[in-house]
Amino acid sequence: MHEMALCEGIVGIVEEEACKRAFTKVNVVCLEIGALSHVAPEALKFCFEAVAARTIAQGARLEIVETPGTAWCMACSKTVEIGQRYEPCPSCGGYQVQMTGGEEMRVRELEVD
Ligand SMILES: [Zn+2]
Repeated sequence: MHEMALCEGIVGIVEEEACKRAFTKVNVVCLEIGALSHVAPEALKFCFEAVAARTIAQGARLEIVETPGTAWCMACSKTVEIGQRYEPCPSCGGYQVQMTGGEEMRVRELEVD
């Protein structure tokens, strides 16, 4: 499952940070997820609990912040926000848009003890 692999990645990042910053407990993991990444937040939370069990991230709350998808519109010569891949440009309605962002996922912040 897609979400399972992502959660393993998140726990890996948390463990790395724990080594670097020497904390022993994580309260909140704040994640940024691109609107176009096709990640289901509920599924992600569910998997995270399972993957985090018996690791340093056990019991940590997952906070998910969705970041908008962005695309470059050739007609407008500017970056526009899109809600879905292959969506027309919200400024001019044209389809000469190329997706530039919104598929990425990253750990934005850790709240630790
Ligand atoms: Zn446009």
